[in-house]
Amino acid sequence: MARDLTGSQPKSQSVAIGTREKNMRDRLLEMQAELEADVETAEGATAIVELDQSKVGRLSRMDAMQAQAMARASAERRDVALRRIAAALKRIDDGEYGWCQKCDEPINPKRLEFDPTVLLCIDCANQTENS
Ligand SMILES: [Zn+2]
Repeated sequence: MARDLTGSQPKSQSVAIGTREKNMRDRLLEMQAELEADVETAEGATAIVELDQSKVGRLSRMDAMQAQAMARASAERRDVALRRIAAALKRIDDGEYGWCQKCDEPINPKRLEFDPTVLLCIDCANQTENS
């Protein structure tokens, strides 16, 4: 909507970057809130499994243990995701968001769209995975 009446160069690049970072920040905070809501649900479920253990038979207990192991595994995945989100939010605060943590090249915006928590450019990410 805003018309550039001056017709001169864009005011400042940091304005555009700031808008993108604000959007990413909103997305990251949303992801964080969803994960934290998940943690509460999962903790409730684990507590119920523990309470029931005295009553259930051997097979059910194994089921319960398996369910708990799965709950633990997904809790670990959530922890990792939450740490990645926190790291990305910190980088936004530090003004370093969108730049590769390793080589300082800009990260492809499409890559950031796909996963706002990435800290490495595609090249560095591939190198890290292969090494
Ligand atoms: Zn890189």
